[in-house]
Amino acid sequence: GHPRTPAEPLVPRDVFIAVKTTRKFHRARLDLLLETWISRHKEMTFIFTDWEDEVLARHTGNVVNNCSAAHSRQALSCKMAVEYDHFIESGRKWFCHVDDDNYVNLCALLRLLASYPHTQDIYIGKPSLDRPIQATERVSENRVRPVHFWFATGGAGFCISRGLALKMSPWARLCMISAAWEAEGPGTVGPLQHHLTLPTQVTLSYGMFENKRNAVYVKGPFSVEADPSRFRSIHCHPYPNISWCPRTTIF
Ligand code: UDP
Ligand code: MN
Repeated sequence: GHPRTPAEPLVPRDVFIAVKTTRKFHRARLDLLLETWISRHKEMTFIFTDWEDEVLARHTGNVVNNCSAAHSRQALSCKMAVEYDHFIESGRKWFCHVDDDNYVNLCALLRLLASYPHTQDIYIGKPSLDRPIQATERVSENRVRPVHFWFATGGAGFCISRGLALKMSPWARLCMISAAWEAEGPGTVGPLQHHLTLPTQVTLSYGMFENKRNAVYVKGPFSVEADPSRFRSIHCHPYPNISWCPRTTIF
């Protein structure tokens, strides 16, 4: 895409970012996010999980849900509903959802969202297919009717304006977003990816697919062994003065 003029000024507190995690990923994934992008604007991020611990307790915006920790459709719908309710409650302008294997470029995200009016119906994220899904909906005991909807996995993030969120009825929000877990492909790119260069890339992800690493290619400052997701290396680009970022002397 090309730069758009801001539709409205946006401050970090206008955006509600829900990070979905689960007990078994607190150490394996969440710690890395807390040390990198979440630490830049703590007031934007709310961590949704099924388990409370000391690390989590230190982050103010966190919510422990009562949903099952299983990776079942019901559990994921339950978690999405909890995120949605907290967003509505917060009064913020934008709702964004990311998984715990996503890196969010907060500056790029703010810039992107500021270019759309939050009062209108806006969904930002890449659909998983290039066309709507055809399905049927039961309207009565023995009658069904065809329905079409856009399907998105949400596996690398999406944002919804408050205008749209308020219109989404409970069944719509659950259906739409419970599809989320079904077909996420192997790692790397986020649906919020509108641009291909790092400074403007909004979300990044990583993953393992058939035992092969799938992560963004970024050179240093950390080796692939020390930083397999590349999130630390990415984070040190805009914020080189962070204590754990290796100092490079520029003459
Ligand atoms: N997740 C969860 N419960 C589980 C497994 C995963 O809430 O039992 C969350 C996890 O924290 C992550 C998201 O679901 O935010 C997607 O998980 P993962 O990246 O492992 O799955 P994939 O990307 O392969 O679909
Ligand atoms: Mn994932």
